[in-house]
Amino acid sequence: MFDKILIANRGEIALRVLRACKELGIATVAVHSTADAEAMHVRLADESVCIGPPPSKDSYLNIPALLAACEITGADAVHPGYGFLSENARFAEILAEHNLGFIGPKAEHIRLMGDKIEAKRTARHLGIPVVPGSEGAIDNIDEAMKVAEAIGFPVLVKAAAGGGGRGMKVAQTADDLALAISTAGNEAKSAFGDASVYLEKYLQKPRHIEIQILGDGRGGAIHLGERDCSLQRRHQKVWEEGPSPVLTAEARTRIGETCAKAMREMQYLGVGTIEFLYEDGEFYFIEMNTRIQVEHPVTEAITGIDLVLEQIRVANGGDLPATQDQITISGHAIECRINAENPETFRPSPGKILRYHPPGGLGVRIDSAVYQGYTIPPYYDSLVGKLIVHGKTRAECLMRLRRALDEIVVDGIETTLPLFRALVRDHDIIDGDYHIHWLEQYLAGGDR
Ligand code: ADP
Repeated sequence: MFDKILIANRGEIALRVLRACKELGIATVAVHSTADAEAMHVRLADESVCIGPPPSKDSYLNIPALLAACEITGADAVHPGYGFLSENARFAEILAEHNLGFIGPKAEHIRLMGDKIEAKRTARHLGIPVVPGSEGAIDNIDEAMKVAEAIGFPVLVKAAAGGGGRGMKVAQTADDLALAISTAGNEAKSAFGDASVYLEKYLQKPRHIEIQILGDGRGGAIHLGERDCSLQRRHQKVWEEGPSPVLTAEARTRIGETCAKAMREMQYLGVGTIEFLYEDGEFYFIEMNTRIQVEHPVTEAITGIDLVLEQIRVANGGDLPATQDQITISGHAIECRINAENPETFRPSPGKILRYHPPGGLGVRIDSAVYQGYTIPPYYDSLVGKLIVHGKTRAECLMRLRRALDEIVVDGIETTLPLFRALVRDHDIIDGDYHIHWLEQYLAGGDR
């Protein structure tokens, strides 16, 4: 097993990885920017190294500084968390060149899935159903028009290098197509340095359903059920739950098996998520994330499997924790992403947390790196913490969530807690009756 893991991340996920390492008896190295000297992950790690000034590109994305930190501390593997370098294939290769382990998939698979056009092509070859759209990148408007007419408007223009909802534009009619292509292309060029775009049918009221998978890199892979992440704002997930309120056990097994089989064929290593849109009983692949996801605790709650710990074990050549038959989905879990933002305008609200009281009790989990007196710096994402609640049924889970949301106190900054307190009492949410546009329509006060 690895002796010492360097955690190339910050915030709640750095803490999450640290916890798994402690349980496995592995020493930990935290890295931090000068803005994070007082952060919880730094306090709890066995050792810490300052790797640069506040901007991410000079610290958490600074590969030479991370290599130096490994060298100084004698770390033998790196856990990238999510975001930052977690889906950077070159980083995985550089670590290998320095005889350091990367706790994540093989570089070739990160690269393949990082290009959404290639990912879709691979998914199709592996028998995974995809959204109807262009075969590859769109080269000119005539070609785009032909594809759009064949699949029917509205269509979605998406960036091959896209992520975080950027580089995506809807064309309602043929008149909008040229503008959507140039806007999405420009946005992608400036955000990702790659302007290639492709077309997809724009689905009207789908749900976002994703399958968690885990592979041993030698042809063994299992799926751990789904998460429903349909409640989104600007294509960013806000509330995630599992199982999905609309999926039957038969549909779950069918799509889960398709995904696990594809991962066995690829000899995929580590955790991964295969994301689908789901409409009228059909699944449509949109992308694969080759890392641990923010919402992984939902799956941990309903399967009892520690995904980060197993991710470390398989990265070290270990076996899968269970066979597919041994995986059972028990009860229901919901995660709320609590952000330091105004709950109406969503303007970031960094600053000092004057009072903090996390909720507790049966079935309640908080994954957060904040504490009373901690100042949320303005340089990074605005996640204060994740509240994950588990119950025997969805109704029990909602009941507990309502109670936990009323109990939690985060004072001194604005947070999205009031939004969750309203959502958990909304009839559509209680009925599980929502889709990917529901939240934006709710926030706009319009028809859902
Ligand atoms: P990103 O990598 O930027 O997160 P995704 O491809 O995962 O992009 O899509 C993010 C979200 O955008 C989805 O969860 C869904 O809400 C919306 N979306 C993506 N593709 C489509 C589509 N074809 N039709 C309708 N909505 C879509």
